[in-house]
Amino acid sequence: MKSIKEMPWECGKGWWPLIEKVASAIDSFNAAHPDSPVEVSQIKQKFGGLRIYHYNASEDIRQLIDHAIEASWHTCERCGSITGVTTNLEGYRLTLCPECRKEIKPRVITKRKIAIIR
Ligand SMILES: [Zn+2]
Repeated sequence: MKSIKEMPWECGKGWWPLIEKVASAIDSFNAAHPDSPVEVSQIKQKFGGLRIYHYNASEDIRQLIDHAIEASWHTCERCGSITGVTTNLEGYRLTLCPECRKEIKPRVITKRKIAIIR
């Protein structure tokens, strides 16, 4: 069985410590329960938050995963800072601290012209 540590983590490094905690817990769970391992199919950022797609997780593991996901909303995806972290940026949904936010170019939003047809 492959460790979660070997699969791609499709998100910024700021969240890796959150995922590492979950991965370690799952690795030890799976070592102790080889007949009913927790399986994780994907780890990624979606709509500004961490997603961990899993099945067959025990209650304890599920709580750990939920906790990591909850923490991702308050943790900068780029640097891991937890100061001043917000999720919205014109057109993007990324969870970033103010410093990292400065380095991300906002998506260009084209203003819609309202045509009045008579
Ligand atoms: Zn940051």
